[in-house]
Amino acid sequence: MDCIFCAIADGAADARVVAETESALAFLDANPLAPGHTLVVPKDHYETLDDLPPAEGRAVFSLLHRLVPAIEAAVDADGSTVGFNNGAAAGQEVDHVHGHVIPRFAGDGGGP
Ligand code: 5GP
Ligand code: ZN
Repeated sequence: MDCIFCAIADGAADARVVAETESALAFLDANPLAPGHTLVVPKDHYETLDDLPPAEGRAVFSLLHRLVPAIEAAVDADGSTVGFNNGAAAGQEVDHVHGHVIPRFAGDGGGP
């Protein structure tokens, strides 16, 4: 299987890793929508949230939950947009479940 996020999780492709647990990994997005834009993934390959076992979901959410305030503090953000594009129809381009943490700044005019 040719999956870039599996390659990152296996150490076969480079990424700027932010944090890691036994079954989840966080790394900076290569094309950030804002400074500190981070992706959180299960280390094992699951295509969508529909495929993700509950324990892996808890591991991903737990890492997301811990990282959001740390990322906001690191880039002095006022908040963050946290979400998953789940499935091609939702704009999912990499077929390995990933949550986005996109730091937000007062008046930045963005939003989902
Ligand atoms: P999606 O649209 O699937 O929710 O988002 C995929 C995200 O993965 C995009 O924000 C894109 O910039 C990021 N991305 C794609 N390929 C790579 C890569 O090789 N390395 C990193 N760090 N991010 C990637
Ligand atoms: Zn994968």
